[in-house]
Amino acid sequence: MNGEERVKRIAVLTSGGDAPGMNAAIRAVVRKGIYHGLEIYGIKRGFSGLINRDLFQMKLGSVADIIHRGGTILHTARSPEFLTVEGRQKARNFLLEEKIEGVVVIGGDGSFKGANALEEEGIATAGVPATIDNDIPLTDYTIGFDTAVNTVTDAINKVRDTATSHERIFVIEVMGRSSGQLALFAGLAGGAESIIVPEDPIDVEEVCNRLLRGIKRGKLHSVILVAEGAGGGLYVGEEIKRVIRMDVRVIILGHLQRGGTPTAFDRILASRMGAKAIDLLLERKSGRAVVCRNGCIDSVAYEELLSRKKLSWDDYHLAEILAR
Ligand code: ATP
Repeated sequence: MNGEERVKRIAVLTSGGDAPGMNAAIRAVVRKGIYHGLEIYGIKRGFSGLINRDLFQMKLGSVADIIHRGGTILHTARSPEFLTVEGRQKARNFLLEEKIEGVVVIGGDGSFKGANALEEEGIATAGVPATIDNDIPLTDYTIGFDTAVNTVTDAINKVRDTATSHERIFVIEVMGRSSGQLALFAGLAGGAESIIVPEDPIDVEEVCNRLLRGIKRGKLHSVILVAEGAGGGLYVGEEIKRVIRMDVRVIILGHLQRGGTPTAFDRILASRMGAKAIDLLLERKSGRAVVCRNGCIDSVAYEELLSRKKLSWDDYHLAEILAR
């Protein structure tokens, strides 16, 4: 942004994996921006939209009737071209030509790296954390996580009915390549017998011992939750079968964890975070991501987000204790 002139034109995009609540965040960006007299432009398909010049002006009505919808009306994409210097320069030139003075990037940690790359090209940005993984440090929650936890919990409830009726062991694989947040929270909420996360190397023997202890006290059903990055459901299922020689069914929840109507929690979080991103750009505090800590909306510089988010070991051990 140049000089002390007032910011006038802001763009918004969604990037990386979609997350329920992204639409509520877009709505907040558009309406809070227009409230402050800004022109807001939507960019389609994440950073590739900047390279392909896919921009349109958004009005109050452009975001009508979307607060309750999963996915993102702006579509999302992973853009390999944006990883190249040429791609980023194309994006920068396009933004300068269009006189866009700030970009709100709604997405996960990869998208924030993209936002930081735009900053390095001289474009002001504000990041809004939206990913079902909840793997961004310094924020208690990311947009979409609460909805995904509820989706997985609902799946556990349903599987539990059939697991108890047939006295069967079920392994449920949930998303989380390098983060066990979703497995842990949904496992706690759903009362899973074991939760297997990427942060703690899998100990099949311990999982089997727990199952055998349960069987000894007459419990013939079990639900085991495994994050995809912790070996995956098929592997864990086969290992359990091999060790305890019982029938094990494996369910991979897959992409259904990404969809669905966002919970009230995610809609409120998205509304507050989207609005904060506009405040940051108006205050010329660029290069920052919005965070939520202890219920308060705040912001941190992108550089502060380089470390990995830690799993709550207290909650992990609590889940173990409660599943006995
Ligand atoms: P999720 O957590 O749901 O996977 P994400 O935002 O982490 O979402 P990524 O695929 O990692 O998803 O990143 C989205 C996009 O951000 C990439 O396709 C790329 O265009 C851009 N991006 C990622 N890393 C960088 C980087 N180091 N430099 C520039 N752009 C990047």
